[in-house]
Amino acid sequence: MISVLDLTEQYLEIKNEIDRAISEVVRSGQFILGRFVEDFEKEVATYLKVKYAIGVASGTDALYLALLASGIKRGDEVITTPFTFFATAEVTSNIGAKPVFVDIEPKTFNINVEKIEKAITSRTKAIIPVHLFGHSSRMDKIMQAASKHNLKIVEDCAQSFGADYRGRKTGTIGDAGCFSFFPTKNLGAYGDGGMIVTSSDEIAEKVKLLRAHGSEKKYYHKILGYNSRLDAIQAAILKVKLKYIDIWNKKRAAVARKYRESIVNKDIVSPFEDKDSSHVYHQYTIRCPYRDNLKDYLAKEGISTMVYYPLSLHLQEAYKDLGYGAGSFPESEKAQKEVLSLPIYPELSDDNIKYISEKINSFRT
Ligand SMILES: *Cc1c(COP(=O)(O)O)cnc(C)c1O
Repeated sequence: MISVLDLTEQYLEIKNEIDRAISEVVRSGQFILGRFVEDFEKEVATYLKVKYAIGVASGTDALYLALLASGIKRGDEVITTPFTFFATAEVTSNIGAKPVFVDIEPKTFNINVEKIEKAITSRTKAIIPVHLFGHSSRMDKIMQAASKHNLKIVEDCAQSFGADYRGRKTGTIGDAGCFSFFPTKNLGAYGDGGMIVTSSDEIAEKVKLLRAHGSEKKYYHKILGYNSRLDAIQAAILKVKLKYIDIWNKKRAAVARKYRESIVNKDIVSPFEDKDSSHVYHQYTIRCPYRDNLKDYLAKEGISTMVYYPLSLHLQEAYKDLGYGAGSFPESEKAQKEVLSLPIYPELSDDNIKYISEKINSFRT
């Protein structure tokens, strides 16, 4: 069976460095914050060309704390896409604010920037664009809407570490960028982890307080906060992996190019790449009107695939009170029926790419 993702191959390639990094942390006894986290934060800030990078416990917490630090509170409205992982909207609701969904553009699966304006009300305080599958949202239009209506922009970059939009890294264009180091992400830890990046002194200061019980000095608490820190062991692992991220992202793009060239089937739509965006292919997501049949057929041929995402957020049981229903966001609902993510990771072999492509080409409904 060809799996959608294989993390062991990558570990074996850099095993010595990783093992050394882990044992250095263990020997130092510096497990919570301290120099390993600081080193990694500095390197990410340099890599992304942003003033601050602050490690937190997960991508979800990064979004949650970034919204809080941006001043989002109970009763506010936050605009986002219904076609994303649940956490993107969940954090808004957990603050007591209301997620307001805007349909996606069919080509990139990202929020349709032409439809944002209509969703803005006097309560709208922020937009969370998601750079889904590793392809940037149209940040020019989003930043225009932000300055016109005085909105905060919190970028969900969980799937887009290293991706550019018009020469700038995703996460550094809005007020804050939120990254996830969940093991399967392009830059993945060996456990949970996340990061908020910002060039705002105010947001950075607030996030640093919020992640550590509202305290700068131990046992003196300025505000109520949380326990949401990036583990030192994870930071040390991530620091090793950061050195390879551009190589790995290029390898993903090469896998994508090979799929694009070799998959020729009139029932399959390949992923779109905008000239303004460098796609980092967290996922290689095709569309097929006979998606469920295709998925079953590929499974029988020994190829695993995934459906990201089978149910739009506005149709989730947890969100039935928001008042949306079937038909509210036709493009998102169409996507949930048609998308299929193929195996992709930097080490995926040419033989496997060829095999998968051939099987897809001989798929008949
Ligand atoms: C993975 C992911 C998150 C959540 O990150 P965690 O680290 O798992 O909390 C949020 N948004 C998107 C789009 C994601 O893919």
